[in-house]
Order: sequence, then structure tokens, then C-alpha cells
Amino acid sequence: MQIGFIGLGSMGSAMALNLVKAGHEVRAWNRSRIVQDRVPGITLVPVAADAFQADAVFTMLSDDPAIREVILDAGLLAKARPGLTHVITSTISVALARELEVLHEKVALGYVSAPVLGRPNVAASGQLNILAAGKADAVAAIEPLLASIGKRVWKLGEDPARANAAKIACNMMIAMAIEAMAEGVVLTESVGLDRADFFELILGTLFSGRAYESYSAQITDRSFEPGFKAKLALKDMRLAVEAGNQIGRTLPMLEAVREGLANAVSAGLGEKDWSIMADMTVRNIATATDSGER
Ligand code: NAP
Repeated sequence: MQIGFIGLGSMGSAMALNLVKAGHEVRAWNRSRIVQDRVPGITLVPVAADAFQADAVFTMLSDDPAIREVILDAGLLAKARPGLTHVITSTISVALARELEVLHEKVALGYVSAPVLGRPNVAASGQLNILAAGKADAVAAIEPLLASIGKRVWKLGEDPARANAAKIACNMMIAMAIEAMAEGVVLTESVGLDRADFFELILGTLFSGRAYESYSAQITDRSFEPGFKAKLALKDMRLAVEAGNQIGRTLPMLEAVREGLANAVSAGLGEKDWSIMADMTVRNIATATDSGER
């Protein structure tokens, strides 16, 4: 198949390369210049509109404003190849997913919300979990493509917003797990228990899940290279707050982790992995300069 790809960042480049490996012709656009050697087999196109002249196009831009700027404000949907299916794998708001559904319907394009679980190394090995929602025919049209970038496609129904709400909830809960582990370390290190021993205990007894395994290792090693950037995680906590506001709910644990990530970003650590939030809690760096996020 001919596939367009928009956004060759940490996740997008890994996913686009897996589409090439699966035998597809990939034409990709990225805002800043990409060295061809980094993306062998991918044809780099000069304007984003070119990526919409394909059977399907994937968008892996960072956030809502980037999607508005690159796709909606530039009128790319109206210029797309007729019959194309647009797959947005970015983590975006529930509200934008709803708006995108209507906008795609207006121009008779397929639209699938397909945010992903897994970090760039997982994307590189084609092992992402993909949360897919959209009209059944649109999902069916791109299912073989999703199979090339992920190990499992979780079909969440015809309403695209479901996939986005599920993804935002997952990230909210990972942030809570990171903060929970950090606060556990605060108590146990105060009596001289090594954090590696504490984590061995909790992983072997009460908390054996993937998020605990992966992030306890980073907290133990004090290794905070992304991974998933704290500034993008803060964006996701904002999306969760907004989704709660839309249904008239304030979620207290969410508010706490949003503030922890806002502190990390304010302290200039936005490019670090989001688990840097745990380091700040353990070292009792509670507040930093105000970034307007608090
Ligand atoms: P990233 O490495 O920062 O890449 C972001 C991409 O968006 C880059 O291609 C960047 O272009 C582009 N971009 C940002 N603003 C833009 C704008 N205004 N106009 C045009 N292009 C713009 O981020 P990532 O880690 O790949 O994450 C991408 C998405 O996946 C996010 O929604 C994130 O929440 C989600 N996600 C990430 C992970 C993870 O572990 N990293 C896991 C699951 C989901 P430039 O190269 O020019 O900056």
C-alpha cells in the first residue's frame, strides 16, 4: 500500500520504518529536516499535503495544536486523495477526536483514532499495543497496517473518542504509579532500605504490572533519558483534566501528578523522561519557578 506519514519524531520514525519493513511504500513529512540515513527506505516529501496523496496516512505529531496547525489550518483534509483513511496515533484530547470525526465525515474520509501504548524502543520492535476506534470499515481498511507496527490491536468501538479517553486514562494511571513508587521510596529509604530491595518486594508481591516493572527500574537506576518526555506527559495530564472538566469532575490524584509534572517542566526538565517526577519527589524538590501550569 501507499502510506503517508506525518511526524517522524521518536515514535513516528520507528513506526514508519516498520511500515517500510512490512513492504509498504511510505512517503513522510517532518517539520524539521530529517537525515535520510536515519529513515532508510522512506521517501521524504517537501510538504505535508503530499502525505495525504496515499491510500492511508498516519499522523504522529506531538499534540492538539500541532495537528490543528499542520492538518486542519492548512486544509489538508479537503485536498486529500478521495477514499483515504487517516489514522491519528498521537495522544490527543477527547474533544479534538470528536471534532476530527465530524471533519473527516464532511469530506468523506475514513478516520481512525489509534493512540498507542509503548515507548520508542517498543515502537522500534513493532510491539506497540494499539487502541483503535472508528467506523468498522475504516478500521478494517487499515488493520493490516496496524499489524505491522503493533503486537495487538485493541478495538474499542466506533466512537473514536473512546480510544483517546482510554489512552489518556492509561497515562494518568502510569503517572500515578510513578508517584506512588516515589512516595514508597521516601518512606522506606528513611529507614535505610535500599530502593532496589523495596522494588523487588513490591514487584514480587503486590504490584507486578508492566508500569511498575518498567518505571521502578528507571527510578532505581536514576536514569531519566526519554522514553517519554515530561513535557508530553504534562500535556497528557492536562488532557485528562480537560476530559474530567467536560463531565464536571475533578480528580484529586490526577491533580497531584499534574502538579508534579508541572514542577518538573518548570525546573527545566521537560525533555527528561517523565519518571524524573519521581526523582523530584524523592529528593523533596516540591516547587520550582511558576510556569503558568500550576
Ligand atoms: P517527539 O519525539 O517530540 O516528536 C514529535 C513530532 O511532532 C516531531 O515530528 C515534531 O517535529 C512534530 N511536531 C511537534 N509540533 C509540531 C508543529 N507545530 N508542527 C509540525 N510538527 C510538529 O514526540 P514522540 O515521543 O514521538 O510523541 C509523539 C506523540 O506520541 C505524542 O502525542 C505522545 O504523547 C505520543 N506517545 C509518545 C510515547 C513515547 O513514549 N514517546 C508513547 C506513546 C504515545 P520536529 O521533529 O520538527 O520537532
